[in-house]
Amino acid sequence: MSNYSRKMFRFKELNVKEIKNYEMETILKVEMPVKKHICPWCSKTTQMIHDYLPERKIKDIPFGKIKTTLIYKPRRYHCTCGKNFLENCEEIIPRYKMTKRFIDLIIEETRSLKSFKSIANDLGVSPTTVIRIFDNIEYEQGNIGEIVCIDEFKGNLGGQKYQAVMVDPQTSKITNMHRNRYKWELNNVFKEIPKQERYKVKFFICDMWDSYIELAQHFFPKAEIIVDRFHYTRYVTKAMNDIRVEIQKTVGKDLRVHMKHSRALLLGRNEKVLKIDKYDARTQLYEMLNLSPKLTTAYQLEQAWYKVNDSKDRMEAKINMYRFYDLVASSNLKEFQSVVETFKNYEKYILNSFLTKYTNSYAEGVNTLIKTFKRIGFGYRNLRRFRNRIMHYQNA
Ligand SMILES: [Zn+2]
Repeated sequence: MSNYSRKMFRFKELNVKEIKNYEMETILKVEMPVKKHICPWCSKTTQMIHDYLPERKIKDIPFGKIKTTLIYKPRRYHCTCGKNFLENCEEIIPRYKMTKRFIDLIIEETRSLKSFKSIANDLGVSPTTVIRIFDNIEYEQGNIGEIVCIDEFKGNLGGQKYQAVMVDPQTSKITNMHRNRYKWELNNVFKEIPKQERYKVKFFICDMWDSYIELAQHFFPKAEIIVDRFHYTRYVTKAMNDIRVEIQKTVGKDLRVHMKHSRALLLGRNEKVLKIDKYDARTQLYEMLNLSPKLTTAYQLEQAWYKVNDSKDRMEAKINMYRFYDLVASSNLKEFQSVVETFKNYEKYILNSFLTKYTNSYAEGVNTLIKTFKRIGFGYRNLRRFRNRIMHYQNA
């Protein structure tokens, strides 16, 4: 045996008796050394061999494309109490057709961003084997921190379109993933979290989904509920964009193409446009605004909203928000008036977003991760497996 193969075939306990090398497979005959065993029935010590069970073929870590197979005859010991028992071997698990170290390797591999299929390919086993081993892993709900972000993503998992995901923004880790965002189901999820953990939560960040808010009031009574800032800002940019699209339809074809390209100019902050060193950007913006007084008003309202966003604290945000309300009220723009109606219902929670720097963009970082995982596509229709793989990855 060369030094090289000695290393490769070194086991903690098993002795290699014989090595046969074939083109695509190496077969090792192995056995456990005879040693004293403690009888599991009476706890006496014995070294008396009773018999050997038939040979078992056990897969071990392959060497590149070359499979490794162990041939092992389990030995049984006899005890003076009259009972027989199987020798115990750390490296071979009863019933498994793989060595423990091979199983450990597969479990380590599933922490990566590789699909089950490619892990299976690399290790010369079937995807079903990899999945079966992986399915032994179960991540229960993770610990929640002082800040809970809840968001949903379109996962189409377990026959449901949207899945709710809870993220701890301080660690950027998913603490739980749930198959839908229905109140009664989330109720069951939240009630599993120990009371002392729930009472530690300072901020609960969500979108304008009443179920989230009601659940938060009930389960996280000490938390300030926050409507996420990206979420509510989208209402404003959507109103602006609806008006842009409407005006765009009324102008000639040349201008229409022009306006489409100017979407970013109209939806962005004015200071940013002014900072662009190109005369073109500014001219383009003012030309467009000149097209329609309605568009100009909408633009002013949107810019007034950005003042709210840029506020230093809750108090300043409140002042700017009321200023925005007034401007909208005198504008006669339905699109913005309906935004204000919505905002008034959630005003407290919107203003609460000025209490912390944390936003659901942390959850959105997780969303990107989820998208990556979906693209890899490892049996993602199974929510439990999907969640476990993500949590396994996060815990690497
Ligand atoms: Zn015994």
